[in-house]
Amino acid sequence: MYQGPKMYAAVLQAPRKFEIVERSRPVAGTGEVVVRIAATAVCHTDLEIYTGRHPGVRYPVVMGHEATGTVDAVGAGVTGLQPGQNVLINPVIACGHCDSCARGAGHLCRNAGILGREIEGSLSQYVRLAAHYVHALPQHLSLDTATLIETLATVRHAQQRVDLTGGESVVVLGQGTSGLLHTRLAVLAGATPVIAVSRTKWKLDMARHMDAHHAVLASAEAAIDEVLRLTDGAGVDVVIDTTGSAGTLQAGIDMLRPGGRFCSFSVSHELVSGFSTFPLYYKEVSIIGSRALTPSDIDASIELVASGKIDVSGFVTTTYPLDRAAAAFEEYERNPGRILRIVIDSAVA
Ligand SMILES: [Zn+2]
Ligand SMILES: [Zn+2]
Repeated sequence: MYQGPKMYAAVLQAPRKFEIVERSRPVAGTGEVVVRIAATAVCHTDLEIYTGRHPGVRYPVVMGHEATGTVDAVGAGVTGLQPGQNVLINPVIACGHCDSCARGAGHLCRNAGILGREIEGSLSQYVRLAAHYVHALPQHLSLDTATLIETLATVRHAQQRVDLTGGESVVVLGQGTSGLLHTRLAVLAGATPVIAVSRTKWKLDMARHMDAHHAVLASAEAAIDEVLRLTDGAGVDVVIDTTGSAGTLQAGIDMLRPGGRFCSFSVSHELVSGFSTFPLYYKEVSIIGSRALTPSDIDASIELVASGKIDVSGFVTTTYPLDRAAAAFEEYERNPGRILRIVIDSAVA
């Protein structure tokens, strides 16, 4: 029996156990697009799935949610996309009929799946999606670095939630990939000063490259005094926490002026101990959560990178072919603090 053209996928059979599997290529149905994957950036979420620490993930799983590629085929009824077009994938796959979806908040879909977690992801040579999850990229952008646009869109989503305005003072805790992008986006929003906080010197050097006004080499707790000094004792309007550590909540609130906003961007399953709700009253602090991204965050982020306002070229630490996905994750697990993004392309020897 003829089974059509083949492709390879890197299947995670169990934590830390990859297998390169040959499969039939997907075929585009009505309203669908098949994307030939060019590059997938690997982030902390993938590392949690790889090591078995991400709750609720069922194995085997094909990871990969920060992906770019080229349209390979379009199904009936698809307009605006042609084979050969470079694209970025929106990995938040919504059900389309729950109350969140009905409100136009598909990123809060009650039944949403993320590509590469609940739905087969981009560590595969071809992926099939409904056409509205596929965003055209300007052809001049590198498909490797354009994978960062997915993360940038989540960062932009959070800053929209915070409603950051020009002239406000901002602290960004942590200067990994999302922290650096928060720093840059806050500068572009006209925030001043933008204070980057990290315990890692080279990340602060990158924060300066993102035009941070101040770079503070310290933990969140140890940075409180310096943030107060830099704001003449007032505290800042906004703190954005990208550290993913529960212990930063209290420190972040201590840095805020009365009426300030704390954005918990990178969350943690850890319990927050020793936290009192009193500052929510006394300082009238707002705590703001942010989940994933919306299609308009993706379009705005593509524009920010295409126009050169945000330079993501320095974020790709190293690149691996698809059939060495296992080696890529071994390196990432060994050195998570030294890596911004590992990119896996679709090459199989
Ligand atoms: Zn990610
Ligand atoms: Zn839904």
